[in-house]
Amino acid sequence: MRRVSILGATGSIGQNTIDLIARDRDAFDVVALTGGGNIAQLAEDARRLAAQVAVTAYEDRLDDLRDALAGSGVEAAAGARALVEAASRPVDWVMSAIIGAAGLAPGLAALQQGATLALANKESMVAAGPLVIETARKHGATVLPVDSEHSAVFQALIGEDIAAVERIIITASGGAFRDWPLEKLAGATVAEASAHPNWDMGQRITIDSASMFNKALEVIETREFFQVRPEQIEVLVHPESLVHALVGFNDGGLMAHVGPADMRHAIGFALNWPVRKPVPVERLDLAALGALSFRAPDAARYPALRLARAVMQTGGLAGAAFNAAKERALDHFIAGRLGFMEMAPVVEEVLARLSAQPGHVDAPVYLDNITRVDHLARKEADAVAEQIAG
Ligand code: NAD
Ligand code: MG
Repeated sequence: MRRVSILGATGSIGQNTIDLIARDRDAFDVVALTGGGNIAQLAEDARRLAAQVAVTAYEDRLDDLRDALAGSGVEAAAGARALVEAASRPVDWVMSAIIGAAGLAPGLAALQQGATLALANKESMVAAGPLVIETARKHGATVLPVDSEHSAVFQALIGEDIAAVERIIITASGGAFRDWPLEKLAGATVAEASAHPNWDMGQRITIDSASMFNKALEVIETREFFQVRPEQIEVLVHPESLVHALVGFNDGGLMAHVGPADMRHAIGFALNWPVRKPVPVERLDLAALGALSFRAPDAARYPALRLARAVMQTGGLAGAAFNAAKERALDHFIAGRLGFMEMAPVVEEVLARLSAQPGHVDAPVYLDNITRVDHLARKEADAVAEQIAG
């Protein structure tokens, strides 16, 4: 039996993880499940999977969670510290599927207890890549990518020598607005940005796909995961979302990973690693599809990609500042205070302000520095957003 915990169990990745575990119930012993405000879902899954403990991120929802779990034997807990405590309970495998920088501390706690960390929370790698890798190394823990592109790269690298890798190409669907005329983008609404052409995901990452902030995070994630140079990483728009990544080797060969646009493939791969087990995703009929297409991303449409390059160039805590500013800019877009094309200028300005002062993005990648720069970047993002909106 594999003992597992799921951080962010009530979200899109968390629910897909639970779907796979529920189909193979005898193989898994569920220890901790965590969620946010969806107490009913959290309690229902904790009962169904007979979890040891269920944690809501919100302290003021503890009574609701207790009520929902009454008589089940499942412990209830709440708040940021309880999340870390839950992630510290001994298990073999932890799914890190909280959204945003809030996923970092619980993910590090899972690594500190030596668990295999299935990392959907790309923000951890963007904000704190060196710290995540070092924590895993120090505690003999393993980090497995869950992001579809990074799972694809990981799979293409099995049995290969990373020194023979020339380049890594990650693909992007192009998001909701890939075929919109550029001038229309400024007026794009939240509802329009929340409709992904291929993937069914949480709302925030769906909007980040439309702006390619998601791909920008993933470029940085690729660098941190596979320790390649920034110039070795390329992005290709691939509207069918079936080739998730390609690894180019020094003999000119490209290994592509092809699979359906269903996160259960990448989750299942990480859940069962190092073996493969059947996963109930659609089997592709390539003859019926006929063709796959690729094109270079348009720099004017996707300024986030340029920002990702600047972040990698700066290094240090620029990733933490970038992610935090991006999270706040997205909050402001969702709240109707910023236009769709105003998010990137906010993030760019925050990076410029923090980089101009010593002691911020050039500080060592330690958790307290990350937290400080994260807070500062959010504050600056609010100020810049207000200037633009006002
Ligand atoms: P989601 O919004 O659907 O779910 C997020 C989960 O985190 C929920 O359980 C929520 O309750 C919890 N949460 C939110 N804020 C929290 C906080 N402050 N503290 C603790 N818990 C909190 O998100 P998602 O789409 O499932 O994405 C989860 C992660 O996986 C993200 O990092 C995302 O980038 C990554 N990812 C998602 C997909 C996808 O298909 N959805 C694909 C690749 C990578
Ligand atoms: Mg992805």
